[in-house]
Amino acid sequence: MRKKLIAANWKMFKTPNQTRDFFRDFLPLVKDHDRDEIVVCPTNLCIDAAVAAAKGSNVAIGAQNLHWEKEGAYTGEVNAAMLQAVGVTHVIIGHSERRQYFGETDDTVNLKLKSALEAGLIPIVCVGEVLEEREANLTDDVLRRQSLRAFHKVSAKKAASLVVAYEPVWAIGTGKTATPQMAADAHAIIRAEAAESFGKEFAENLRILYGGSVKPENAHALMSEAEIDGALVGGASLDPKSFTAIVKY
Ligand code: PEP
Repeated sequence: MRKKLIAANWKMFKTPNQTRDFFRDFLPLVKDHDRDEIVVCPTNLCIDAAVAAAKGSNVAIGAQNLHWEKEGAYTGEVNAAMLQAVGVTHVIIGHSERRQYFGETDDTVNLKLKSALEAGLIPIVCVGEVLEEREANLTDDVLRRQSLRAFHKVSAKKAASLVVAYEPVWAIGTGKTATPQMAADAHAIIRAEAAESFGKEFAENLRILYGGSVKPENAHALMSEAEIDGALVGGASLDPKSFTAIVKY
């Protein structure tokens, strides 16, 4: 049985005070919930506040990005060791907004995955097709390419903690959701690619999350699909009640 992971991607929302307010309201609502793993990924500026607020709770804190180098002249960047030093345990890699607006490529995703694993962070690697690719029947090719290149030269042993998030770009922040069947089909492709790279047993244990307009109203149907091992949630994770409803689907 793969334990489901429900992760909040707060993107560029919330100040430290708003982060503290969120945890004040959210933690009592999910206290004792151990069916699923819960992760919240705030901006780097709010990690301190989130780690302090979530200390001793069942909620882990993740980052939304990292740089792969150990240190250097990379203005505006932070690396795996720095994230770990402030209490981060998970990190999102290759989110479509980073691919779209900040020049993230399959190769940088691969470098970031290697550095996260090396440092002992749990990586959540995002893959997914844009609308034009889906309409041109290229979804399978895109998912295969993104997965294969993300996993390039990563050993199964090193990748043990890997989590993948399937996020069809056309469903992110749009209110459009993939049907549970569409998501399950995409997950099966990613799982097959993971089997190629890491072996069948690894692939069977790999958690693949779905992301793209997950809301309290559709969470149950999506999470009931055997291929879907959790959710990466943007907009609906900003409100404690709505994120709780998703966690408790
Ligand atoms: C995301 O940011 O990863 C995401 C899925 O956003 P939303 O839930 O708002 O579509």
